[in-house]
Amino acid sequence: MAYRGRLAPTPTGHLHVGHARTFALAAQRAREANGILIYRTEDLDTGRCRPEFAAAAIEDLHWLGLKWSEGPDVGGPHTPYVQSLRLPWFRDVWQCLHASGNIYPCDKSRKDVERCLSAPHTEDDAEPIFPTELRPSVGAGREAREPGAMNWRFRVPDGESISFHDAIQGPQTFIAGKDFGDFLVWRKDGFPSYELAVVADDHAMGVTEVVRGADLILSTARQLLLYRALGWTSPAWAHAPLILDNNGKRLAKRTSGLSIRELRKNGYTPTEILSASMENLQK
Ligand code: GLU
Repeated sequence: MAYRGRLAPTPTGHLHVGHARTFALAAQRAREANGILIYRTEDLDTGRCRPEFAAAAIEDLHWLGLKWSEGPDVGGPHTPYVQSLRLPWFRDVWQCLHASGNIYPCDKSRKDVERCLSAPHTEDDAEPIFPTELRPSVGAGREAREPGAMNWRFRVPDGESISFHDAIQGPQTFIAGKDFGDFLVWRKDGFPSYELAVVADDHAMGVTEVVRGADLILSTARQLLLYRALGWTSPAWAHAPLILDNNGKRLAKRTSGLSIRELRKNGYTPTEILSASMENLQK
């Protein structure tokens, strides 16, 4: 099968040097496989995403020398390459998950979850493990015809090991119900969750390998459960190590001084940004 990779930035701020390196790696893997690279804007977090950041991301990555052959700026066979324009498709996928009997409507608030929580959650993954005592009985929500103004969660198979091979990090295993719990597939604000949208689009766009930051490695276990429930073949995985700042902290979009824009304004070249050590960049 021909290689199809993708870049999938979320436009909540300007891209930083960490994104630059992960995306450059994704582009390199696509190039080395003689494959296709897709660009997809993941703007479902409508409260935080901005069109100007979406446009800036495309501009910054072009300036860095990255090229893609499908995307919002160049079109392609899977248009639109912007998630906020793909809601009918995500609703179809919700229908399939609903028909599979794996999801349920959830009216529990964050407070309800916190009140019940005994297991701590890791810093890497902000989502607390959903307490099983808050689950409704099997079959709850079966009569629904559409998601409506409800959160919907995927019922994970408690105790099952989810394993996969990562091209960079090696073999991985996570236990459902222990490392992660019932996760959101639909939000009551009318949008799919990240997990649903990314699986739906990677499948629709024929992606054969997902290259992204290691902060999403646990999400891969959740996404594998979605692939299975939907009867779809999953792609291969490659999670790039995260870049830390000089204080050992993960770079955030708000990390000042390390956005591609700012480095470029300060005279850094694409090669310097992609290869310099953090110390050289963080003067
Ligand atoms: N849109 C996500 C982000 O910017 C990445 C999603 C993915 O690569 O699966 O963090």
